[in-house]
Order: sequence, then structure tokens, then C-alpha cells
Amino acid sequence: MFLLYLDDSGSVGNVREDYFVLAGVTLPENSIRWCCHELETLAEEIWPDAPRSVEFHASEIFGGRGAIWSRFNKEERILLIKRVISVLDNAHSQIRVFACAVHKASFPGQDPVELAFEDISSRFDLYLQRISTESHRERGLIVLDRSSYENSLQSLTHEFRRQGNRWGNQLRGVCEVPLFVDSQASRIIQLADHIAYAVFRFYNAADASYFNLLEGKFDEHDGVFHGLSHRQSYTHHCMCPACLSRRYSS
Ligand SMILES: [Zn+2]
Repeated sequence: MFLLYLDDSGSVGNVREDYFVLAGVTLPENSIRWCCHELETLAEEIWPDAPRSVEFHASEIFGGRGAIWSRFNKEERILLIKRVISVLDNAHSQIRVFACAVHKASFPGQDPVELAFEDISSRFDLYLQRISTESHRERGLIVLDRSSYENSLQSLTHEFRRQGNRWGNQLRGVCEVPLFVDSQASRIIQLADHIAYAVFRFYNAADASYFNLLEGKFDEHDGVFHGLSHRQSYTHHCMCPACLSRRYSS
């Protein structure tokens, strides 16, 4: 069983932001303890007396908000965000990053949350099919931060399984409905938050400083970044890794 932990970055309704991002990390169930332990160790270093009170939330860390993060200067806070992402440096090769960046103005009248979720769940399903063998079919479960999307995404997943998505695939390996958890209780959702933040900064602000740490972590096969998707209609010449790798492969 593989779990895909997702979180979002960027606000759907904020007209000052061009992008909405859904992103996160998939890992086999036997790697969950390892990943939680790595992040818990970092939390213990930051606040030894009460590590459980440390919740890694990239935009709060960057802004120095709250009693914990306000103790650090800006450089230290940027380094902390990078250290959370860098937990992936020692990850097993089956632990892969997935992200979808939706350019909101390219899809007027459409819900960027649904677009991104449909995109990522299809890519996750294809990943599971690719790593499955004849004797062992991998299954997947999507885990999301409990948020306002809970109801809409649950019904959307049901719909995918019933009708297949708009590209004609059906989610064969992904369990019926996503699991919703509180980000405070899940260290891996907090890691997903940092991945979403890194991808959002890259597309929305052309800031690659966090995104570069994800190099080599996206699901990639035959030279295509299947794990990274840039949904936009404003240019055919985008030079981002997602668009560039698809142009070269075709
Ligand atoms: Zn692109």
C-alpha cells in the first residue's frame, strides 16, 4: 500500500495570486515511521521541551508567525523550511513527489481544486500501475489535510471511479475516497505543505530556492516528469521542467 499525502498552497479566491497548487509525497506504508521520525527529530531540535507543539507550516515559518517561529531571524526561518524539505534527501527511491500547479486564469469558470485533484490522482494511479508487477498489484490511498474541500473531493473521487476521468482513465489502484486528517497530527501532511509551498513559490513568484531541493524527487519515467504537472494555456513555450520534459518526449 502506498499513501499519497497532499496539501495545497495558494488561495483559490485570491486574485493577487496567479496559481493554485496541490502537492505532496507518496510513500510505501513501511516508510511512514521513518519519515515521521525524521520530522519529529527536527521538531525536538527546535523546541526540546514540547516538540509536539511544533507544527511545520511553511508560510507561517516564513512569516515568523507564532511564539516558536518569531524567535528565529528570516535567514534561519528560510533554512528551516529547506530542512523540512530536505528530509526527502535520504528517502527510499520509491518515495516520490507529486505536484500540480494550476494557472487559475487559464481555466475560467473551473474549480482549480478539482482540476488539480483530478490531475494528481490520475498520475498517482499511473505510478501505481507502473510499479505493480503481475504477481503484486500496488494499491494507493490519498491522504489530505482536513479542509473545506472535504465534501467536494470525496464526491469527486466517487465520480472518477464510476465514470473514469476526462482522459478516459479509471482509478484502478487508488482506494475509493481520500482520507482526511488534521495537519497538526500528521508530520507527513506538514511535509506535503512544504512541498506545495516550494512549487507555489516557483510558479507564482519565479522563486526556485525551495523548488530546486525537489530536483530528482518527482516521479519521472522515460525523461518525463509525470509527477509534476503545469496546467496552463497561456504559452506553448514554457521552460518549466514539467512542460519542457513533455515537449522533448513528444
Ligand atoms: Zn510549464
